[in-house]
Amino acid sequence: MKILISAGPTREYIDSVRFISNPSTGKIGYLLAEKLKLKGYSITLVSGPTHLKPPEGIKLINVVSAEEMEKAILEEFRKADCLIMAAAVSDWRPEKRYFGKLKIKERWDLRLVPTPDILKEVSKLKRDSQIVIGFALETENMEDNALKKLKEKKLDLIVANTPSFFGDGASDVIFISKSGDVKKFENIGKEKVAELIVKWVENNLTK
Ligand code: C5P
Repeated sequence: MKILISAGPTREYIDSVRFISNPSTGKIGYLLAEKLKLKGYSITLVSGPTHLKPPEGIKLINVVSAEEMEKAILEEFRKADCLIMAAAVSDWRPEKRYFGKLKIKERWDLRLVPTPDILKEVSKLKRDSQIVIGFALETENMEDNALKKLKEKKLDLIVANTPSFFGDGASDVIFISKSGDVKKFENIGKEKVAELIVKWVENNLTK
C-alpha cells in the first residue's frame, strides 16, 4: 500500500531573497513517514523546506512553494492509497514576484493572492478506495472549524490542533472522522499524535 505524505511549510517569494512562510518544522510529517515506513507501507514524502533528515528507503520530493507542492501532490495522488496532508501550506502568495533584491522604500503595499487549496483539488480526483487525512490549525472554535474543513475538503479524517503544536510543543488535539467519530486528547505531543494517526490508518486502510 502506498502512502503519500506532505510536510513542512511552503515559501512564497516576494523577491529573490525574501518570502512569506510560517514556523512549521515538518516534524509531524517526517515522524509519520518514519513510523508508516516501519509498518511496511511504501512512502512518498513531499516536503517543503525543513532542517530534518528524511527517513531511509522512502521517495522524497522537495518543493518550495504551494504551487510546486500542488503539482507534486496531484501527480503522486493518482498512485496513492492514502494521502496525509500534514504540510502547513501558505494560504497566500505575493501577486507578483520581483527578481533581484527589492530596494528599501519608506512604505509600500504588498498585494497577496490566495494559493491553490491543494486538498480541494485532491477531492475532485479522489476515488472511493482512497483515504485522505488533513490537519486544521485553529485558534478558536477548534471542533466546529475542523468539522467544517472535514466536509469542505471531503476528508476521511481531520486532526485539529492549536498554534502551541508548532515546534516541539504539545497541544489539545481533536480527531474527527467522516463517520462522525470525535476523539479528544489533552495536551499531547507529536510522537503520540503520529502514533494515533498510524493506528487510525492501519484500522481504516485495508491491506
Ligand atoms: O490552512 P487550513 O487550515 O485550511 O489547512 C487545513 C488542511 O488543508 C491542512 O491539511 C493543509 O495541509 C491543507 N491545505 C491545502 N492547501 C492550502 C492550504 C491548506 O491543502 N492552500
